[in-house]
Amino acid sequence: MSYNVETKRYFVPEGYPQAINAAGGLPLLLMPLSKDLIAYYLDMIDGLLLSGGTDLDPFYYNEEPQGVGKISPQRDEIEILLTREAIKRKIPILAICRGLQVLAVAAGGTINQDISCMENVLKHSQLAPRWYGTHNVEIEEGTLLHKITHRKRIRVNSFHHQAIDKIPPGYIVSAKTVDGIIEGLEIDNRSDILGVQWHPECMWMNDNEAFSLFRWLVYEAATSDKQNSKR
Ligand code: MN
Repeated sequence: MSYNVETKRYFVPEGYPQAINAAGGLPLLLMPLSKDLIAYYLDMIDGLLLSGGTDLDPFYYNEEPQGVGKISPQRDEIEILLTREAIKRKIPILAICRGLQVLAVAAGGTINQDISCMENVLKHSQLAPRWYGTHNVEIEEGTLLHKITHRKRIRVNSFHHQAIDKIPPGYIVSAKTVDGIIEGLEIDNRSDILGVQWHPECMWMNDNEAFSLFRWLVYEAATSDKQNSKR
């Protein structure tokens, strides 16, 4: 979840817990308070949703700051460690926007710090309402994202000025925009990790494909190895 340094408040946009709840899951908020809590959090949860927010400090992918915007130091460190440990424990992960970038960097990838200054890119920081899709993404056939949405092209919203640059080892791109920006990431032949660059939590109420991502996470969480070992 996010932390506002100015007002000293933790917060989470309502769409995340509402979509998880509507998909049959029990939403829990994990506060980025201390690294010592990570193991307890992971004992507690069956699935992990990495939510959107500020940019990741380029320190975590060994770059000096260039086009990077606002960062949340405490959130960065805790989410990267949490993600690495969740991957190790095979806890299903849905990574959204900043979450996708956390996933990519935790797994060894890098981020393009500012795509808005590139030539021939689409508008990825839309001014239209948050629930409204403004660009298409082309979904690679046979990927997990394709299996979840049953679509080769969907229209999605876009609120990012950064994107994945180097794909982490072992990962594949499942969706792209026509300008070549990476909008979906997963692990080849694995059904438990999915990252998207758009914000399905703003669209799920009137958009089946957006809601299908949350239903997938809840299903994976309910049928994961961790759940099976409890039975
Ligand atoms: Mn976009």
